[in-house]
Amino acid sequence: MKSYVFPGEIDASIMQIGSRPFIYMRTDEFSAINKESERILLDLIHCKGGRTIIYTGSGTGAMSAVVENYVSTKTKAFVIDGGSFGHRWYQLCEYYGVPVYDYAVPFAKDIDYKDLETRIDEEKPDVFLCQHHETSTGILFDLERISNICRRRGISLVVDVISTFLAEPLDMDALGIDICITSTQKGLNIPPGLSVLFFSKNLEGYSFNHRGYYWDFDQNLSNLMRGQTPFSPATILYLQLNARLRQLAGEGGETANIARVAQRAAFFRSLCSQYGWEVPAERPSNAITGFQTRDTAERWIFRGLIEKYDTYIMPGGKPGFYRVSHMGLQSEEDLKELAARISEFEPK
Ligand SMILES: *Cc1c(COP(=O)(O)O)cnc(C)c1O
Repeated sequence: MKSYVFPGEIDASIMQIGSRPFIYMRTDEFSAINKESERILLDLIHCKGGRTIIYTGSGTGAMSAVVENYVSTKTKAFVIDGGSFGHRWYQLCEYYGVPVYDYAVPFAKDIDYKDLETRIDEEKPDVFLCQHHETSTGILFDLERISNICRRRGISLVVDVISTFLAEPLDMDALGIDICITSTQKGLNIPPGLSVLFFSKNLEGYSFNHRGYYWDFDQNLSNLMRGQTPFSPATILYLQLNARLRQLAGEGGETANIARVAQRAAFFRSLCSQYGWEVPAERPSNAITGFQTRDTAERWIFRGLIEKYDTYIMPGGKPGFYRVSHMGLQSEEDLKELAARISEFEPK
């Protein structure tokens, strides 16, 4: 099998952890592992003196937790809705009855930042929710501009960096972000099942709401203070996370990893232009390449790759639009072979 979806090809030493006996969770040994994971995670995202929660649950669980515990303490949320993930912030606010303004951004387009400022001045939100990268289309939003807009107005900034953590440069402190979230099956490149919340030092002592029992911030933060989780953790995933974080720290940290992902993205995009596939994203992220082929709604490419080559890429929201992740292990040879195979099934 060849995988260009999330998480893609995973390092063999990480996969092997899943087949070995694992330790009991209520031990000092497990606590020490989690304390170390927290320290490395905060380093990788530049969040000095901050905290993390590591949840057993996918990225959407972390998004829900943020709305239940934090966004619900605010008077009005402002959401960037540039695709299915942005729309999820909006749906969560609606679900929990938080007043919210949904700022729609057209498919694969960047935000019109001047217009955004005008709208924010009209709506007067006190919390801003966005994605760093709207993974459904491949557009990377400009966090520096967003951060400036929020900072000047004292609006709290919460960013879903699920698909950019370790794929794009990201300095949480410099950007003044209060909460970031990510999950394990994207840039961390281990199996799905855990999500990570990063809390800036600014939130120390904040009075969170208690609107969800399982995801309660105070409960989870106080447990993780001693390296524990309130409920049974997905122990193996915590061990894989720790091994992966140690590996990253030993391989040049986030900078080296981002460079590797960026190089794969650049190489695949050169193949796209060779085959005549347009990349619609106005500011594409390194994380994935979203590209337009001549395929139809029948998805000949998607089905052909699976049936003939046991190879997986991600269909997008439009006929002929596909996405290839660059966060898993992949060589230039792999990508050349992939592009040739995509072209084989493309209707001529
Ligand atoms: C993958 C992803 C999510 C969450 O997905 P889960 O399937 O719940 O892990 C949320 N936001 C973005 C930007 C993503 O790429």
